[in-house]
Amino acid sequence: MQALVFHGKEDVRVDERPRPVLGAPTDAIVRITTTTICGSDLHLFHGEIPDTEKGDVLGHECVGVVEEVGPDVTEVQPGDRVCVSAVIACGTCDYCQKGFYSLCDTTNHSLIQQELYGQQTSGIFGYSHIVGGFDGCQAAYVRVPHANLGLLKLPDDVPDEKAIVLSDILCTGWHANQLSDTGPGDTVAVFGCGPVGLMAMEAARLRGVQRIIAIDNIGYRLDVARRQFQAETINFEENEPVKSLRELTEGRGVDVAIEAAGFRYATSLRHKIQKKLLLETDAVDALASAIRATRKAGRISIIGDFIGYANQFPIGAMMEKSLTVRGGQVYVQQYWHMLLDKIRSGECDPSFVITHKLSFNLAAEAYRLFDQKADNVIKILLYPETHTEQQHDTPAVATTTAA
Ligand SMILES: [Zn+2]
Ligand SMILES: [Zn+2]
Repeated sequence: MQALVFHGKEDVRVDERPRPVLGAPTDAIVRITTTTICGSDLHLFHGEIPDTEKGDVLGHECVGVVEEVGPDVTEVQPGDRVCVSAVIACGTCDYCQKGFYSLCDTTNHSLIQQELYGQQTSGIFGYSHIVGGFDGCQAAYVRVPHANLGLLKLPDDVPDEKAIVLSDILCTGWHANQLSDTGPGDTVAVFGCGPVGLMAMEAARLRGVQRIIAIDNIGYRLDVARRQFQAETINFEENEPVKSLRELTEGRGVDVAIEAAGFRYATSLRHKIQKKLLLETDAVDALASAIRATRKAGRISIIGDFIGYANQFPIGAMMEKSLTVRGGQVYVQQYWHMLLDKIRSGECDPSFVITHKLSFNLAAEAYRLFDQKADNVIKILLYPETHTEQQHDTPAVATTTAA
C-alpha cells in the first residue's frame, strides 16, 4: 500500500509499505478513503518531536471503511464507514472510565515520556514513539487498536469532508472550550488561526460565545476568522496583541484565552535564541501574551502542542491574577458523538476549513504547501489510491482556492 513515511527533518515521502494486519482480537483494519495533514504534523515534519524514527508512517486524522475486524470487535463490522480517533484508548483503565481518553494508562509505554512527565499519556496514531509509535493513517490502510472505542460509525448523509474533523480538530476545538468553560457572555481570544484555532472558534460559537478575537500573523487566516465568526482580528506583526486586546476590552482583558499555536512558534527574539541554543524546548510567546491579556480570575486553555521546558514563563501574572490555566490533549471519544449530531443536524458545518483536495500521491508536496502556508491553505484533504470516485465524489487532482 501507499503510505506517507518520515525520512528525516523536512523529508517525507510516499512509499510502498506492507498492508497492516490484525494484531489483537480488539483490532480493526480500516481502508482509508480520506486523510489529512494536521498542524501538529508540521512539528514532526520539522523533526522537533523527540523519538520520531525514520520509517514512521505519519497521520492521525482519517475517515474510511472497515475492512476487517478481530473477534472481540462488536461495535463495527466490515463495510461500515467510520471515523478514526487520533487518540488510542483502551476504554477500561481508570482514566478511560472517567472519559479522559488521552490520558489512557495502557496504550503508550514510552520511557522518554515517563522520564519527561513522570507518567505516560495515551497512544496517538502516527505521532512518534513518545506516544506509542503507532503507524499513522496517512496511508491506504491503518490498523486501529481498541476498535470498539476508537472508531465512530458514520451515517451515509455525513460526507468524509465533514466527518474527518471528528478524528481530532473539531473535538480539540471543543476540548479547548470545555477546559476553559466558555459560554454566552464571554469574550474569547484565540491565539493561532490554523485549523485547530478555527475549530476552537467554531466550538465557541456552538456554545453561544458571541465575541471572538482572533490573533495570527497571516492575513488570509484572519480573513477566515472574520468571515466565519465575525471575529475581531489582531495581526501580531502589526499590533502588539496584549495592548490590542486591552484596548478592545476597555482595559479589562478577555475572559478566556485559548492557546492554539504550540511550542514551535517563537515570535520574540529571546525565545528564538533560547530555542536555537537549546536552552529551552518550547517557546511560550503566545501563551505569555494570553496570560497577560486575560482578565483577573480569567481562564486559559492550552491546546497547541507543548513538549518540554520553557523559560520566562509569566508565573507571576498567572498566580497573582488568579488565572485558571488548563491544558491537555483532546478526549476525542468523549465528544465525537455529540459533535457528529451537530454536524448531522446542520448546526455545525466544519468543512469551511477545507481549502485543498489532492490525490494521495501528492502527500509530500502537500506537506510543503501546508508548511509554507502558501496558496491560502488551511486544510488539505488527501485521497489514497484505493478511493473510488463513485463512493464520495472527490476529485483526483487539486481543486484549490484561487491562487
Ligand atoms: Zn491533528
Ligand atoms: Zn485506558
